[in-house]
Parts: sequence; C-alpha cells; structure tokens
Amino acid sequence: MSPVTGTPERDHAADHLAGLAPASLVVAAGRPPRIPGAPVNTPVELSATYAAPLTGTGYGRNGNATWTALEEAVGVLEHGDALVFASGMAAVAAAMAFVPAGGTVVAPRNAYNITTALLADYAAEGHTVRHVEIADTPAVVAAIDGADLIWLESPTNPTLEVADLPALAAAARERGVLSVCDNTFATPLLQQPLDLGVDVVVHSATKYLSGHSDVLLGVAVTQREDLYTALQRRRLVHGGIAGPMEAWLALRGLRTLHVRFERQCANAVEIARRAADHPAVDRVRYPGFGAMVSIEVRGGAAAADAAAAGCRLWLDATSLGGVESLIERRRKYAAESPTVPESLLRMSVGIEDVDDLWRDLSQALDAATG
Ligand SMILES: *Cc1c(COP(=O)(O)O)cnc(C)c1O
Repeated sequence: MSPVTGTPERDHAADHLAGLAPASLVVAAGRPPRIPGAPVNTPVELSATYAAPLTGTGYGRNGNATWTALEEAVGVLEHGDALVFASGMAAVAAAMAFVPAGGTVVAPRNAYNITTALLADYAAEGHTVRHVEIADTPAVVAAIDGADLIWLESPTNPTLEVADLPALAAAARERGVLSVCDNTFATPLLQQPLDLGVDVVVHSATKYLSGHSDVLLGVAVTQREDLYTALQRRRLVHGGIAGPMEAWLALRGLRTLHVRFERQCANAVEIARRAADHPAVDRVRYPGFGAMVSIEVRGGAAAADAAAAGCRLWLDATSLGGVESLIERRRKYAAESPTVPESLLRMSVGIEDVDDLWRDLSQALDAATG
C-alpha cells in the first residue's frame, strides 16, 4: 500500500517488487496486474473524462492510468510517492512554490539555468534568494538559517559540483527548513536523496529516465503526505499536465535505464580520463560518477565553440541524458550563471563506442586549438 495515496492499484506493485534491485525495478515496476489476458505493457490511456460515479480519476487533469504506471516505477526507484508533471520545469516550479510569498530560498550558484531564471523571477517579486557554493557545506549550513527552503542540485548543471546531501538535509530539518533535490544528473540509480533526509526529489524525466531525447516530462517524489498532497493540488490547479503518450514514452525508456546508464557512466569515466591528458583541455570537471563531463577548453569561448562545432559524432545541441552524445557551450545562454566559465563545454556522454567518441572529440579539440 502506498504510504501516501493508499491506492489499491499500488498494492500488487509494492508486494511483488519488494526486495528487488534497481536493475530489476526499472523493468518490472509499473506493469499491469498479472491476470490472464492482461497486456504486458501499461496501455496509453487516452481519455479526457470517465464514466460516473466518480470512483477514481474522473477527469484527465486529476490523473491517468499511464501516469500512474510511470509514477509507480519512479516512486519505487526513489523510495517515495511520485507525481508526473508536464516537464522538469513544471515539477521544479511546483516544488519551488513551497517558498511562501516574501520567503527565503537558498540555492546553488551554479544550477540548471532555467531553475536559476525562475529564482530570478521570484527575487523580482520579493523573495530573498541566497546563492551559495553548494560544495561548501559550512557556508551552505550558515545560509540555511532563517530560510524557508533549500534547493539542492547534485551534481550541479553544468559545473558538476557535489553537495553533501545528508549533512545539508539534516541541517535543514533541524532548522525546520524544507529541502528539495533536483536528482536529474545522478538518477535514482546513483543516489536516492529521500533516503538521505531530503524532503522532495524532482527530475527532468526528459533526460536519463526517458533516455531518448524524444519526450519532455517531469517528476516530483516525496515520502511526506502533506507535501504530496500540496504538489498534487498544484498540478491540478495549475493544469500544466503531462500527456498520456509522453508518460508512456518515458516508461518505455525507463525499461532500459539501467543498461543505458551503466554504459554511459563507463564511457564518461574514459572520456574524462582521456580529456585530462589532452593539451587543449585546461580542466576536466567530473565528479567520479554519472555520465556528465564538463571540460574547459584552452583558448576561451571561441575555441570551445569551434570544438563543439567541429564534432561529427557528438552533436552540438542542448539537453542531456539520451543515448546519443551531446556537447554544448553553456555560457552562450544569457540565463547561465556568470560563475560558469566561458570556455566550459558540457558533455552528455551517450552509449556509442568510446573510442569513436574520443577520436571525434580529440580531433575537434585539435582543430579548434591547433
Ligand atoms: C533539463 C533540466 C531541467 C528542466 O527539465 P525540462 O524537462 O527541460 O523542463 C531541470 N533540472 C535539470 C538539472 C535539468 O537538466
């Protein structure tokens, strides 16, 4: 039984998934009940309304069976109860709304740039936003005092700083401050922030969870009933809901998350190692886990732009987490924090052959800086 929603359709899931490892959960969770004749995959439920009497969903903005399947799967991976949103930013905005009018939020200086843009809008409306170096734990703890919410992103986008989640979650809880963690980069395979004391996890499911750059979707997850109810209410009244087809695509993608991410992480380790020895690379940022690597290119923005443009296998494009390798200079965006170096290329390492990836990247770096 779900600790929050108590919905009967989650009963069977909780039972037959108990004790399974993440590699099994991504495959087994969110399936239809095992009864004769049932489909293997949860169907795409395309219905705006439901026959009376109102026993369950009732109307398509309240819920949807395809959402429920994805929510069950992400929920068991993150150890909480999940809610699907129309995009990562819809989930981010729903969680950020826990900051009351005129309240104070602590946030990483370097973070996903549209989250930073949302905070800038909040600041213009009277919130106080305290930007911190998220890896400087004592400084962050000091900044939490008197705040309403701490926004965590770890590793950060695109500078790949790592926050001490257990220490910061504990410090926040002691002070009655809500904590939220954007877990997009680590995925629930590498870290489960709710188990580390964080109150709410959000994801851009557009990225690793879906994994094929063919869908935009977001998820928020919590173990706290009051927070779940508030997030669900925001989804209902704000109305920016996910399409059933998008939820289905995300669930389809999630089935291979474990094998995709394993390969992506292995490729990333190798790319980070080889990049460190390349004369055109001033600095490699790689936290030692995950599949995102950032490099700072000798020669500044122009050289970095030329290197990204000179790749033939890596694609110069925004976004991340798909099977295909993407590379991008982040400071070309006005919304990016000025603390992100101009020469930084963010690389989302895909599942291609690692020697092909390295050959392509190194020739582009050679040509751009030679
Ligand atoms: C992409 C991203 C988001 C926003 O997600 P969308 O699905 O694009 O709305 C939020 N956080 C991080 C860390 C991201 O990379």
